[in-house]
Amino acid sequence: MPHLGEDPEREGLQRTPARVAKALQFLTSGYKADIHSIVNDALYTVTYDEMVIVKDIEFFSLCEHHLLPFFGKMHVAYLPKDKVIGLSKLPRIVDAFARRLQIQERLTQQVAQTIQEAIDPVGVGVVCEARHLCMMMAAWRSSTPARLPAPCWAVSAHARRPGTNFCPWSTIA
Ligand SMILES: [Zn+2]
Repeated sequence: MPHLGEDPEREGLQRTPARVAKALQFLTSGYKADIHSIVNDALYTVTYDEMVIVKDIEFFSLCEHHLLPFFGKMHVAYLPKDKVIGLSKLPRIVDAFARRLQIQERLTQQVAQTIQEAIDPVGVGVVCEARHLCMMMAAWRSSTPARLPAPCWAVSAHARRPGTNFCPWSTIA
């Protein structure tokens, strides 16, 4: 704090290092999440071959470059082969990966991969729409007129059969 020109002994700052440590522990608690037990509790065998879509899963994460939040919504779609995953588990999977030091692309990919490995679907697509405070705070008021940058997008899609036309955009947008 002295490097920032602050007095660490000032009343409001005395307990700040301890608070920051506690906040970081919470914001990175996803490292301790047991993905396998989250997933394996809720796998169901089905004869269902329609697309499963869950939109607007909200998440909050921390960018690993600046330790500033990025947050937004994730949209998940998959085409089951013979198994589905309980719908309530998808937000928990997203949370488990979001509460880590992340980049948006990896977060998106990890969610898609987890679904891929859990139920081996015909195809899975994840679209992630996020706003990054590191970008928003830097751009705000430096552009004229003052304007926040548009959300960033990341997409991860896997298709089991080569040639399967699995475009998450067409189903989610
Ligand atoms: Zn950043």
